[in-house]
Amino acid sequence: MSRQVIKRRSRGFICVNAHPEGCRRNVERQIAVAEKLPPARGAAPRNVLVVGASTGYGLASRIAAAWGCGARTLGVFFERPPDGDKTATAGYYNTAALAERAARDGRYAAHINGDAFSDECKRSAIEIIRRHLTPLDLVIYSLASPKRTHPRTGIVHNSVLKPIGRPFSSRTVELDSEKVVDVTLPPAAENEIADTVAVMGGEDWRMWIEALVAEGLLAPGVRTVAYSYIGPELTWPIYRDGTIGRAKQNLEQTARTLTQLLSPKFDGSAYISVNKAVVTQASAAIPVVPLYLSLLPKVMRGKHLDENPIEQICRLFSDFLSTGKTPATDEAGRIRLDDREMRLDVQSEVSALFPQVTTENLRQISDFAGFQREFRNLFGFEVSDVDYEQPFETDVPLRDSSA
Ligand code: NAD
Repeated sequence: MSRQVIKRRSRGFICVNAHPEGCRRNVERQIAVAEKLPPARGAAPRNVLVVGASTGYGLASRIAAAWGCGARTLGVFFERPPDGDKTATAGYYNTAALAERAARDGRYAAHINGDAFSDECKRSAIEIIRRHLTPLDLVIYSLASPKRTHPRTGIVHNSVLKPIGRPFSSRTVELDSEKVVDVTLPPAAENEIADTVAVMGGEDWRMWIEALVAEGLLAPGVRTVAYSYIGPELTWPIYRDGTIGRAKQNLEQTARTLTQLLSPKFDGSAYISVNKAVVTQASAAIPVVPLYLSLLPKVMRGKHLDENPIEQICRLFSDFLSTGKTPATDEAGRIRLDDREMRLDVQSEVSALFPQVTTENLRQISDFAGFQREFRNLFGFEVSDVDYEQPFETDVPLRDSSA
């Protein structure tokens, strides 16, 4: 037991602790959105595996599957549990809150807190799925990781966020000092490109699906979805045309390979869903993106178009995955949840504002305060209705709910 008053502690911009009650409220709010999902027009998924399930788009996917579609879920993630007086990471508290609520609602929710890239983690998942979640009809792959230990070679690959071919200079906001500055990022070396593809490309997704096929755990009509981002031209040198973009191209190629594997045997298919830019721990680390994410929601809110991760993923289920039809895709076969972000009127407003932002007018022109609040919310801080002067238990257990 460790009850304590928890104040936000930061190293630079990053929060190094998390608030269990703030995280619990965040999860409850997402569940409330998912519960309003209209009934599926086709067959709703019943047994769902989410890899990368504790924060961001993966957490939203797990909540939408469980509370929007009534699915039994297994979530895989890599989070630090509480340790004495030290709080756990936000993803741990999110999952503890999800598990507690699942138990109360009589929903099956199992978890693996371990390295999804490892064979051991896949073996543990297979055991749980065999006993409680067969056949699986949906696998969501939502990992965002800075590194991967390759299960065959033991080599540790580190992903980098760099342009390819030439340096990239752009305006960005320095998150610690809140200064708007010009940064120049050097181009990636060949080995850095290959390492980023090894971490964020499709090889591990393929290994998961091949392992599930080999064990005979997939349902007829099974679907698997991995997430990607394209974004506007101003982010292309660092995103779409950079190292991470190369990894996403590899992910798209993997979707085609997996469809070839799943289609003949299961009438199954693999999709890439291109999602909207949102504030998550992963996206805040990408240069240029924090400034873009201080402008985009403001412009989208002005047009009543903004969506947070749970709203995006509820739309993924209602409009694409649970319609009883083949999901509508773009010409490259991708599901597009970023259609509202990419609207011409939205993008022309954002790109007109982008060069005008300076350190002095940052908080007038953009919603930097909103970006900062949303980022702190991810760790359970500055969440409305939480009394941060009160002590809370930090040593929260993480239990499976096996209803
Ligand atoms: P996130 O940082 O919020 O979540 C990452 C998840 O991966 C967490 O659950 C974490 O525990 C898990 N994870 C990391 N390393 C792991 C490991 N070794 N083993 C097991 N679990 C591990 O990230 P996010 O922004 O939600 O990104 C998820 C996916 O969505 C990524 O593919 C990302 O490119 C994509 N995406 C993100 C955005 C955005 O704006 N955030 C937009 C479009 C697409």
